[in-house]
Parts: sequence; C-alpha cells; structure tokens
Amino acid sequence: MKILVINCGSSSLKYQLLEMDGEHALASGLVERIGESEGKVSHQNHSDATGGQFIVYEKPISDHRSAMNEAVGRLTAPGTGVIASHSEIAAVGHRVVHGGEYFQKPARVDQNVLKAIQQTIPLAPLHNPANLMGIKVAQELFPHAPQVAVFDTAFHQTIPAFAYHYALPWSYYEQMGVRRYGFHGTSHQYVAREAAARLGRPLSDVNLITAHLGSGASICAIEKGVSVDTSMGMTPLGGLIMGTRGGNLDPGVIMYIAEQKGMSLPEINAVLQKESGLKGICGMNDLRDIHAAADKGDARSRLALDMFVYRCRQYIGAYFFQLGRVDSLVFTAGIGENDPAIRESCCRGMASLGLTVDPLRNRNPEKYRGEITAAGSPVRAYVIPTNEELEIARQTADVVKGKS
Ligand code: ADP
Repeated sequence: MKILVINCGSSSLKYQLLEMDGEHALASGLVERIGESEGKVSHQNHSDATGGQFIVYEKPISDHRSAMNEAVGRLTAPGTGVIASHSEIAAVGHRVVHGGEYFQKPARVDQNVLKAIQQTIPLAPLHNPANLMGIKVAQELFPHAPQVAVFDTAFHQTIPAFAYHYALPWSYYEQMGVRRYGFHGTSHQYVAREAAARLGRPLSDVNLITAHLGSGASICAIEKGVSVDTSMGMTPLGGLIMGTRGGNLDPGVIMYIAEQKGMSLPEINAVLQKESGLKGICGMNDLRDIHAAADKGDARSRLALDMFVYRCRQYIGAYFFQLGRVDSLVFTAGIGENDPAIRESCCRGMASLGLTVDPLRNRNPEKYRGEITAAGSPVRAYVIPTNEELEIARQTADVVKGKS
C-alpha cells in the first residue's frame, strides 16, 4: 500500500511517498516559494532502483495546485519516477496543525471534517488555511484516493481539564476556545511508540517524558501511553525557549512592551514569533552556531544555552513529579537527536530520580540502539529520531483500513 503524505504551508508543499509494506520512503520533496516569481523544487528518490537521486530546479509555481502537479510529475516521471501512475497512490495523509477540540484522532476527510478544520482557522490562522488548501487540491488530483487528516493537536486531547484550562474568564473558553491544545503530537506519539518497543512493553503500560527539541520545541508527559500534559499552549508560542520563540512569558510583559514602545499587536506578534527565543538572547537561533560562539567565550551565547536547558529541566522536573513513575525520557528532533551537550545538561544531577546518563553512550547513541543511560539506570533515556511522515502514513493506513 502506497501512501502520499502532504504537509502544505502557505507558500510551500512538502511531500513524501511511503510504501507501507516494510514502511519505507520511496521519494520525498519540497516545493517552495509558491506564488512567487521563481519557485524551487527539491526532490529525492529513496528507492535503490532509482539510485537515490536528488533533483533541484527552479521554475515559477503559480499556486498549490501547480505545486502538487509538480510533485506528482516527479513521482511519475518516466525513467526516474518511483511509480508509473498516480493511481498507485492508495491514500493521502495530510498534516493539519490544529484540530481544536473537534479531533481526538485522525479523520477521513468528508464535508463535516472540512467544515471543522475551517472552523478551527481562527486558532491557527497561518497554518490551517494552507492545510485545507492541500486537502482540496489533493481531492481534485487523486479523486480515487481516500484523504485523511492527521492533527498535530489530536494526541494531546487526552490532557485533563485541570491541566489544559487557563485561569481566564470562563466565557473565553466557551466562546473562543481559549485553552491549551499542545502541538507536535505526531512526533510525540511516534517516539512514544518507539520507546515502548525498546522497553519491550506495550505503549499502554509505560510512562514517558518525550522532548521534541527542534527549531520549535515541546516536552510531553505521557501516562500509560497517552498525553497528560505538554509544554505548548493554545498556540505553538508557549512553553520552552525555541529558536526564535521565547515560550512562556509573564503576560504583563506584552502590555508593558506595547505601552513603552507603542507597538501594535501584529508587531508584537512578529517579535514573539521571529525575534525572540535563542535569537533574541544571542542573535543566533541554530544551536550549532551558539555552541561555537559560547566555546569562544561569547557570554550571551552561553547564557542562551543555560536558559534553554533550564527551561527544559523545569518541564522535565514538573512531569517527573506529575507522573510519579517514569520509565523513560526520550530526546528527539534536530537538537534532541544531535546535541549530546544539551542532553547531558538536561539530565545532570538526576541520579536521585533514577536517571544516570552514560557519557560514552550519550556521544554515540546509535551504537546502543539509542539508549544513553548507564546500565542499571532505573529510568532509561533514549535518543529516538522522529519520523512524522511515517507516523502520519501509519495513522492514514489505520483509518483507511478501519482500524482507527
Ligand atoms: P524543525 O523541523 O522544527 O525546523 P529540526 O527538528 O530540524 O527543526 O531542528 C532544527 C534545529 O536543530 C536547528 O535549528 C539546530 O538548532 C538544531 N540542530 C541540528 N543539528 C544539530 C547539531 N548537530 N547539533 C546541535 N543542534 C543541531
């Protein structure tokens, strides 16, 4: 069964075609700068038969329909394509950022699902319209294939009310849906499943803390396989310190900035989205650059690293306490998978909680099936590369087969 996974942004379209028998990617790609004078297409074949080629070219891509056509063209190109015809695609799985309170699990797209995604647009004004566009274009291009929407928020719908409510006037929740939703659900769910497999226990039996640390970052508390808390809030601005987002903030700061600088809400939003976080502190948002500068003695870069780790530890500590028993702490995404120094700092001094990282394993987790804790550490820590596309494809396959 071949499943096409689509992640549609406002001016980009990411795709991956997966063969579910054996769960491997056949091809993937990215169409960027949709609607601009010169678009960019990057496509990679993963199958051995086509030699893993990487193709990059520029051409105008007028809209998302053209972008999807371009992707299909590459997938089916005579000689280099991985499929003969788009009719081989059995189903299309779409990443949808916000499912509000409508979706606790993935959904096969029908008129009601489209309406609910539409109604959730105010909660994700940048993302949901693009995700909807992707679904509509795919419906046109693949009329034979079921479309499935997989939501970033769905995994967190199990968080209890006392954890997801904000202490604000009740009507804001009832009338506008103001509450915490959480994001990166597909990633947390994927690594949780993998961690349970490595522990050799059913997912429904394990308590985990999963740390998705990439340019966007969130930590999730998982009890008996389901999310019971996560660091992001109503929007992906909350929680941890990220590349360009500062995470949790005293709300009074926003009013103070508005008054002092005479800034409008859109201007403040732009600062909170793009100029804050690590970049706000030290001018850089890539951890590799920040480590290099800190090693050369740059005090602000050192401070940014310390702040990043401190905030991670606040959540890890809170979730340890909340869960009571933790089987495993899991690191994933760009920083979680590649930065031993951050992992080591996040876990320092936790022996009394049952977690001891082995420095050698932490530097080479791939040699130890991802496990970075010392032998005998009651709480295990793992580095598990995330694979959101595979998780979306798995959930899509389950919906199509009627398992979800
Ligand atoms: P996203 O998918 O959210 O854009 P990723 O999960 O790809 O983000 O993470 C990107 C971030 O991971 C980069 O900004 C960088 O800070 C960090 N990163 C990537 N490789 C390394 C590395 N080798 N060491 C430290 N940090 C890294």
